[in-house]
Amino acid sequence: MSKTVLICARLFDGLGEALAGPAEILIEDGIITDIAHSVSHPATAKIVDLGDRTVMPGFIDTHVHLCLDGLNLRQQILECSATKALTGLHLAQQYMRYGFTTLRDMGTLDQDWPTINLRDAIESGLVHGPRLVVAAHMISATGGHADMQGAFPCRCHLGLSKVADSPGKIRELVRAEHAFGGDWIKTMNTGGYMSFGDDPAKVTWFEDEMQCLAETARQLGLPVAVHTGAAEGCKQALRAGARSLEHCYLIDDEGISMAEKGGAFIVPTMQMTREDKAMLKAGKLPMQAAWKFGRDVDEIERAQKRIAASKVPVAFGTDCGMFPFSHGVLEFQAMVAAGITPLRALKAATSVAADLLQRDDIGVLAPGKKADIVAMTGDPIADIAITENVDFVMKGGRIYRHQAFDIFQS
Ligand SMILES: [Zn+2]
Repeated sequence: MSKTVLICARLFDGLGEALAGPAEILIEDGIITDIAHSVSHPATAKIVDLGDRTVMPGFIDTHVHLCLDGLNLRQQILECSATKALTGLHLAQQYMRYGFTTLRDMGTLDQDWPTINLRDAIESGLVHGPRLVVAAHMISATGGHADMQGAFPCRCHLGLSKVADSPGKIRELVRAEHAFGGDWIKTMNTGGYMSFGDDPAKVTWFEDEMQCLAETARQLGLPVAVHTGAAEGCKQALRAGARSLEHCYLIDDEGISMAEKGGAFIVPTMQMTREDKAMLKAGKLPMQAAWKFGRDVDEIERAQKRIAASKVPVAFGTDCGMFPFSHGVLEFQAMVAAGITPLRALKAATSVAADLLQRDDIGVLAPGKKADIVAMTGDPIADIAITENVDFVMKGGRIYRHQAFDIFQS
C-alpha cells in the first residue's frame, strides 16, 4: 500500500468558508484517509512538506475541447482522428501542470471518437493525464452551431457534423453517443460566435426537438449540457431539464430566476469573452465571429453580472480549445472581475464542479475522497490571481509536479 503524508500551512477543502490549517493529509492508495492538525506518520509513508503553501482540491474545468482547435477550425477538422487524439493528450497533460486534474470535454468535430479514446487511454493507465468526462460530439440542427458544413460550401459531405432536423434523427444521434461510450450529451440550441452561418441570438431547436433530445438522454441515464446564447435558448434548455447551461451569453432576468428555481448549473466561460474582446480590439477576431460578437459583447457582460448576482450554482468552465489552454487558469480572475467572490470561484472549480459532474469522489478534501490535490504559494481567497501559482499537482495520490519534478514539462 502506498502512503503519503502532505504537510501544509493552509488548506481549502472545497466546501468551507475560509482557509484552515496548518494541516496534514494522510493518503493511502490514492485515497485521503485522514486530515487533521497532525495525522499518523506510518513508517512506510512518504512525507511531503509543502511549506507555506495553500492546499486545495485539484481544479476541475467543466468545459474544454481537447480535440477542437477553435482558431484553426478549417485546418483542424480535416485532420485524422488519431492526430486530434494525440494533440489532445498533449494539451491535457500541459493543462494538468496548472492544477487541472479533471476535465469535462464538451465535444469534437470528427466522425470518430478521439475524446472517448483519450479518456479510456488515461483511465486504463496507458498514458498519464487528467480524469476526463466526455460528451463526444455536439448535436445540433442543420445550420446550427455544430454544423460545420457552412465552413465547406459545396464540400459539405465530410460527415464531421452531427446534425438532425427531426425527433427521430435526434434520437438516433443520442443513442449513438450512448452506444460509443459518451458520458454526457452535448447539444447546441442556439448559434455561436466562431462558427459559420449561425447566430447565438437565434434559437435553432424547436421545442419538440429539444425535448426529444433530453428525453432520450434521460432514458439512457445521460446528463445533458446545452450550449446556449439567446435568452429564449436558455429558457428552452431549462424547460427541457438540462443539467448544465454552457455560456448563457444573453441570459435575461427571467432565465436567471428559472435557473435558480430549476437547479441547473451555469458554466459561464467568462475568460473566453475577455479573449474574444481582446481579439476584436486587435482586429484579429475571425470575420464570421466579429460582427456577432461586436454586436453582443456589452449584453454578454451584462448577462455575466446577472449570473454573478444570482444564486445559481456556477461551475468553472473555460471553453479552452476555442482559445489557448495556457490561458484557462485565468477563468478564476475573469469570474471575480465579473462580480463572483473568490470563494465562490474556488468552489466553482472544486465542489460545485464535482456536483455538476455527479462525482462525489472528487472536488473536496475529506477522508474517503480521491487524493486529487494541488498547492500554491499564497492565499487564493485574498487574491484570486494566486491560482496561477500552482506548483504541486497530485492526482489519485500520485505526484505529477513538485519542486524540480515535473512529469509533463516540455
Ligand atoms: Zn465549447
